[in-house]
Amino acid sequence: MSELPRTDCLWWYDTPPIELPQRVEPADKDVDFAIVGAGFTGLWTAIHLKTLLPNKKIIVLEAHRVGHGASGRNGGWLMGSCEGLSAFCNGTGLLPKDVITEFRDLVPNFVSSLKALAIDCDLKQGGGIFGAARYPAQGLRAETLLESLHQLGFDERDYRWLSREELTERVSVHNGQGGIYTPLIATLNPAKLLQGLVRAARDKGVAIYERSPATLEDTGILGTPSGNVNANNIIWATEAYSSNPPLKKRLLAVQSGIVCTEPLSHAQWNDIGFDQHEAFCDLSRASTYLQRTADDRLIVGARGAYAFNNRARDSFSASAHRTNKRIALGRALFPQLDKVTFTHSWEGSLGIGRTFTPHIVFDPQQRIATAGGYIGEGVGASYLFALTLAEGFAAVDSPRLSMPWVHRGNLASQLRRWEHEPLPWLGFNGAMSVFDVEEFMINKAIPGARAVSWLCDRLEGLIGH
Ligand SMILES: Cc1cc2nc3c(=O)[nH]c(=O)nc-3n(C[C@H](O)[C@H](O)[C@H](O)COP(=O)(O)OP(=O)(O)OC[C@H]3O[C@@H](n4cnc5c(N)ncnc54)[C@H](O)[C@@H]3O)c2cc1C
Repeated sequence: MSELPRTDCLWWYDTPPIELPQRVEPADKDVDFAIVGAGFTGLWTAIHLKTLLPNKKIIVLEAHRVGHGASGRNGGWLMGSCEGLSAFCNGTGLLPKDVITEFRDLVPNFVSSLKALAIDCDLKQGGGIFGAARYPAQGLRAETLLESLHQLGFDERDYRWLSREELTERVSVHNGQGGIYTPLIATLNPAKLLQGLVRAARDKGVAIYERSPATLEDTGILGTPSGNVNANNIIWATEAYSSNPPLKKRLLAVQSGIVCTEPLSHAQWNDIGFDQHEAFCDLSRASTYLQRTADDRLIVGARGAYAFNNRARDSFSASAHRTNKRIALGRALFPQLDKVTFTHSWEGSLGIGRTFTPHIVFDPQQRIATAGGYIGEGVGASYLFALTLAEGFAAVDSPRLSMPWVHRGNLASQLRRWEHEPLPWLGFNGAMSVFDVEEFMINKAIPGARAVSWLCDRLEGLIGH
């Protein structure tokens, strides 16, 4: 076994965090808006709010550092989509037209916002490929997936079939059989995006405090280590990292993780493709996500486990077992990279709501709102949901406020509670084990794999990405 890569997140290497104050200034203890959590949701909400309501006083409170959560650790797929789409269909089984329009516009709108805010985060609009690779079962999965996307109301402009030749021309993956191409995905560097958002928010007059964990007191006041904050409105943007009220037990913190290679040579890229910096995944149950970074590394992400008692991952550490599994997956997809060194490995936690759909909740009575439950597809959705939160508070007449993921009412009643342990632990990790068995049986052509696949189809619907 070769040496393990270092446990560290690649993104922060060339992008050291910006130093921010840690004690809330007396002048910031009485504010119009307090946003809890400085990931994409919190920072985009601050920026959109300040754009719509420039005279309002806004602060962001972050328990650790900016990007401590999933926003600082993810695979950088910016998706004009979100998880759990079928739950948002109307009676005819179609997604409402406004939803489709919103997703088609997501990447272009995101790019316009980056331009307006002068943020450079290595964004590449190379589209995304869901490739059937490695073993034949993935071919059928690709066909079924395309059919279901078209049934939801997307068309050939959004998702189209890629022949075997087209696939391997773009990405020379092992045993590529064809797949789906979509222009609705771009890739970016998450740490650079976070830094850009911090700068933009501060330029607009938002105060951001790190090492400032907030607690919600019964009085509606926010407690912080440097004193109470009295906010007219509160936005809770803590996603998987929600160990305290008001979101305690409302989101399951599930791990996903990434390994990345050393920078690859021109010849190696010629061998594997990714000329347009396409986002790529295969159609296995491992929920893979790959991208070619601006400094020419290949990152390979795949889902992880769930820690008993809903513990979100604070450190970057990934077990040797899971790291080696992700490296093996990368090599199985691209045997051309057999001798390449993997330099970094890290994990983080993504949030899953009990209904397996992302949400926005406004509680006008308590003047509190939240957005999250993105199930690993939050880079684009957080931008859209943050805009919706800001439009809601600014009382803008916007179609986004009528989207099927927007709810109104008490947070606790709108967001279902997860079951007590050990049910989540058994359910999630049990499903993961069955997926591993299926992959093993398919790879070794062991009879009975079809029956296991049938079971996996049912389980996959239950645990999301
Ligand atoms: C390894 C990995 C890969 C992923 N890859 C992709 C991808 O390629 N594409 C995609 O679309 N999505 C991806 N995701 C999901 C995506 O990163 C998340 O959906 C998104 O970043 C969530 O952003 P957020 O701001 O809502 O939450 P987070 O980024 O998790 O931020 C929550 C913040 O709240 C803070 N906090 C918690 N409690 C408190 C408190 N009491 N007081 C103050 N602060 C608090 C935390 O410290 C944290 O910084 C991935 C996730 C992981 C883990």
